Amino acid sequence: MPDQPPPARRLALVLGDQLSFDLASLRGLDPRQDAVLLAEVREEASHVPHHPKKIALIFSAMRHFASALRRRGYRVQYVTLDDPENRGSLPGELCHWADRLRAREVHLTECGDWRLEQALRHCGLPLVWHADTRFLCGRDEFARWAAGREQLRMEFFYREMRRKSGLLLDADGGPLGGGWNYDAQNRKPLPAGIKAPMSMRFTPDAITREVLVLVGARFSAHPGTLDGFDYPVTHGEARALWQYFLDFALPAFGDYQDAMASGEPFLFHARIGAALNIGLLDLRRLCEDVEEAYRAGRVPLNAAEGFVRQLIGWREYVRGIYWLQMPEYATRNAFGNSRPLPAFYWTGQTRMNCLRQSIGQTLKHAYAHHIQRLMVTGNFALLAGIAPQQVCDWYLAMYLDAFEWVELPNTLGMAMHADGGYLGSKPYCASGQYIRRMSDYCDGCAYRVSESTGEQACPFNALYWHFLMRHREQLEGNPRMSMVYKTLGRVPETRQQALWRRGEDLLARLAAGDGL
Ligand SMILES: Cc1cc2nc3c(=O)[nH]c(=O)nc-3n(C[C@H](O)[C@H](O)[C@H](O)COP(=O)(O)OP(=O)(O)OC[C@H]3O[C@@H](n4cnc5c(N)ncnc54)[C@H](O)[C@@H]3O)c2cc1C
Ligand code: SF4
Repeated sequence: MPDQPPPARRLALVLGDQLSFDLASLRGLDPRQDAVLLAEVREEASHVPHHPKKIALIFSAMRHFASALRRRGYRVQYVTLDDPENRGSLPGELCHWADRLRAREVHLTECGDWRLEQALRHCGLPLVWHADTRFLCGRDEFARWAAGREQLRMEFFYREMRRKSGLLLDADGGPLGGGWNYDAQNRKPLPAGIKAPMSMRFTPDAITREVLVLVGARFSAHPGTLDGFDYPVTHGEARALWQYFLDFALPAFGDYQDAMASGEPFLFHARIGAALNIGLLDLRRLCEDVEEAYRAGRVPLNAAEGFVRQLIGWREYVRGIYWLQMPEYATRNAFGNSRPLPAFYWTGQTRMNCLRQSIGQTLKHAYAHHIQRLMVTGNFALLAGIAPQQVCDWYLAMYLDAFEWVELPNTLGMAMHADGGYLGSKPYCASGQYIRRMSDYCDGCAYRVSESTGEQACPFNALYWHFLMRHREQLEGNPRMSMVYKTLGRVPETRQQALWRRGEDLLARLAAGDGL
């Protein structure tokens, strides 16, 4: 029988994506009589086959955070994955430790995942819940904003958040520069000769190396490689990555936000999504740094505004939608898609260069930037009519920064339009011409982007027209789709039939397991 540990008055559970010192449930803890619990559990690491780098990041960051809490005087109960008594789930560990420490109160901060929050709420313990104040907009506040609106639009929500935060406003409370949004300037392809800055790398320390061995042994069946793990796992390292971005990449972030380039997995993106989502960076501080860089003349307005919009606009907006609409949101399938996810999403083995590059770097780095996620892997899944729930599980598994509150609305709503237009006003569907314009992928591809029918034709082209034809009834009335339907209307009937046949052929080949 193990020794009975001293009792704790209050027990605070800290989840793997809650590694912030000012977490609401940590506030007011008395290190002399309270305790903090962190637990690595199999259920959270494998409810989808998470990329091993993501599991390693979270376990390593948790272990570093636990050490930092101890240095600050907290009493920390830490359960490792290989603890022979590990109960395998967070509710299991929480009930066990609440009982063992005879805790009088158990405190938690809202979860990022509906599934886990439900499991904890029903674990049989009386729990004290705290709102997650790391976000600018609380769940209730978003619900109040959304109430009575027939359509939610990110742009209007974003303006509210600008006013609320005071970010990038002039002395009269209007937007700096006169416009709320400079997105129109942020759609440039990468010119020849421009190179992105080197990515900043962090060498694994002893704690991370131990975690890498553990994850390698336990999760080798999950897709993706552990090799070359170089991500920040402490607050200090995450700040260093952020500072590097501010100094070297933010000035060009706006201009090349939508660009894609072969062999350039990160371009001018920050790579901070995971560090921010697990609590190593603070949202308000990031936004203030960006504003300061703009006011000091170090970055142009389109870069500063574009970056702030992602953080206090899109990121807060998708979280609001998630908590407003779950659990029903996860089941939506407005196009009635049922095709299985092609196997090449797990291997990158396809002759389509854009997909090979985007999926290849995902397997390697657990990272792809926004336009690759939206206009390459997401666009293909949309055009090919893949079941949205399978697509969502893939995104949730593969990306270092993927937590359901942010992954699901982005995938199901933005990329798959499976919510019927609740999150975004039109589907992000595009032919190969978009990918040609925004990248150099087509130069190295086995297919010809200039052709739509025939064996060598870019599959995106016919699938795009096939998508528009098969969903005409749902989409034709959408004012933002009227131009494309007018264009389709001008295509001669025989040509439309040829495009339809090529689309059918591609879909049949996908169904037969052909990686195209
Ligand atoms: C289909 C799809 C799935 C996505 N899944 C996730 C996910 O699981 N987790 C996640 O954090 N982001 C997700 N995104 C949003 C975005 O792609 C990532 O936040 C971004 O690529 C992270 O890399 P970065 O830090 O280099 O971002 P940057 O391009 O440098 O942007 C800076 C920050 O802005 C925020 N941001 C930008 N766009 C969005 C957005 N649409 N929604 C929320 N935050 C945004 C992120 O915090 C990001 O770190 C998804 C987008 C799509 C289209
Ligand atoms: S030709 Fe088509 S499949 Fe090939 S890279 Fe271009 S868009 Fe992708």
